[in-house]
Amino acid sequence: MQLHKKIILIFSFGLCIGAGTIYWFRHQTNNNNVVTPTMPIPTEQQSEPVAPKPKPEPAQHTHPLIQSLQQEDQRLWKELERCGVDKAACISYKTKYRNEYKQIRKEFEDKALKKPISKKTLQTIYRIFDEFNIDKNAIAIIPFNNPGCPAGATDHQLLIDERQLLQFPEEAQDYTIAHEVQHIVHQDDSTSFALENLLNLTEEDFDNPNHIFNKRSRFEEKRADALASLKKAKYARGNILFMKKLLSKKKKESAGITHPKEKTRIALAETILKKYHAPNSTLA
Ligand SMILES: [Zn+2]
Repeated sequence: MQLHKKIILIFSFGLCIGAGTIYWFRHQTNNNNVVTPTMPIPTEQQSEPVAPKPKPEPAQHTHPLIQSLQQEDQRLWKELERCGVDKAACISYKTKYRNEYKQIRKEFEDKALKKPISKKTLQTIYRIFDEFNIDKNAIAIIPFNNPGCPAGATDHQLLIDERQLLQFPEEAQDYTIAHEVQHIVHQDDSTSFALENLLNLTEEDFDNPNHIFNKRSRFEEKRADALASLKKAKYARGNILFMKKLLSKKKKESAGITHPKEKTRIALAETILKKYHAPNSTLA
């Protein structure tokens, strides 16, 4: 499970853009001596985990953008099924290894900065939690130092690099939190955790933009952007501002492997702003 150890932290950071951050994480995890529990892939010989029955698929939403996201989600699960991992297996894995997942992610808390997050930023976070019906007592907010990435989320943690976050305009800061909240709502991090184990990925797979694992990751990023931007016009504007500032800092687009390219993300937010937040629109 060496590979697993290498990548456990990669997908926790929803807004991390591009390979630079990913390799930073790989480097970090390669150079520490933290022993992480190994995650055996369930085999037929092992007793099946006791897992709740998968929930029935939600009814088709009436909003056209949400509808298209649901359809894309279903298409990707079908593709995963052809690769040997269906949605039920993924849910079983998440249930069976819930404690191990939490234990591994605890590493973030162990590496938390001593300096607490400011009251102002905390107020912003709690306001956005409220907007998306997130129970603030269920999520640990962790001050974190992560070059190149102001925020990240696991299923039960929100990681904030406040020094970096404050370098962005206020609307971009709000978007950043709203985006991460979507990862929490959809439990994207534990899905990545389960898939990276169940798919038995090679090093090459992680670098292959056409691998289903990366396609799924890009979809989750797109969904987080879309649902944040759809909620309020200011998040859509913040989405655009964030990506533009990021592009100007980096000078070139990311490779578009785990995350869609910046210009693709800007285009989606611009479409949402124009189509669903226009003064006469009733769709949002
Ligand atoms: Zn994200």
